[in-house]
Amino acid sequence: MAFEGLADRLQGTIQRIKGKGKVTEQDVKEMTREVRLALLEADVNFKVVKDFVKRIRERAIGQEVMESLTPGQQVIKVVRDELTELMGGEQSKIAVADRPPTVIMMVGLQGAGKTTTTGKLANLLRKKYNRNPMLVAADVYRPAAINQLETLGKQLNMPVFSLGTEANPVDIANQAIEKAKEDHQDYVIIDTAGRLHVDNDLMDELQQIKANVQPDEIFLVVDAMTGQDAVNVAESFNEQLEVSGVVLTKLDGDTRGGAALSIKAVTDKPIKFAGMGEKLDELEAFHPERMASRILG
Ligand code: GDP
Repeated sequence: MAFEGLADRLQGTIQRIKGKGKVTEQDVKEMTREVRLALLEADVNFKVVKDFVKRIRERAIGQEVMESLTPGQQVIKVVRDELTELMGGEQSKIAVADRPPTVIMMVGLQGAGKTTTTGKLANLLRKKYNRNPMLVAADVYRPAAINQLETLGKQLNMPVFSLGTEANPVDIANQAIEKAKEDHQDYVIIDTAGRLHVDNDLMDELQQIKANVQPDEIFLVVDAMTGQDAVNVAESFNEQLEVSGVVLTKLDGDTRGGAALSIKAVTDKPIKFAGMGEKLDELEAFHPERMASRILG
């Protein structure tokens, strides 16, 4: 399970401080030292760890006294609040265009789970919000990617717009949106091309699509299993495209948690959804508070 090592370590630390009727500055120092090590071991970005630990230390030492909680519990509350804040605070919602269709552009490296997530997101929008999405195959470099999306469309019984591999992705996106308007589809989810690494051609193409269709959301799909690489990828996509949110996939794997805990702090973009498996119903809204509770027990 994801975060197992981190959860084990933090829960041990917390148990030690929980019952304390009096928490000294020394106790707080020891606790934050353990928290720091646990986060670093979970592959959380170094600077993120440093700022995080500084904040909990300041708050835990100068904490407001709440009569309903023991001092130990108050320190834990500080850690829980800060961990929630680190992962984005409030759960963030998905955009809705004033005039349909709402256009969502999916971007990310090859293998991150972009095409699968396109299908999962469409499924979620229909099931949870009663929406009527259309999928768009704009990865013209890999016929397999188009086939994959068409297969997902069949499974979901949803329309997939494709012009094969000869058309230009910008034209595909524009025509798809026109078609969605005619057919009263209220969401258009564009599956764009990915590469193995971030490169200029890819960014140029994505920027052109963005400039033309002016999407309501740009979701960057990153693989949680790749740890700090996921954070670096998120940083460079965000610099060039100004994404609106992140989807973290493969959180069902045994990721140490570094990506989940660093992305918001490094990019200032919220994690909106988490992929929890390969199946089409295994995408969840990302709840920072619930995730913090899962980690802290
Ligand atoms: P793309 O190249 O970015 O479009 O990636 P794909 O959508 O083809 O996904 C790559 C692989 O990751 C596939 O085998 C997916 O089934 C798998 N995958 C995607 N999301 C998840 C997830 O949340 N959990 C797990 N375990 N596998 C996933």
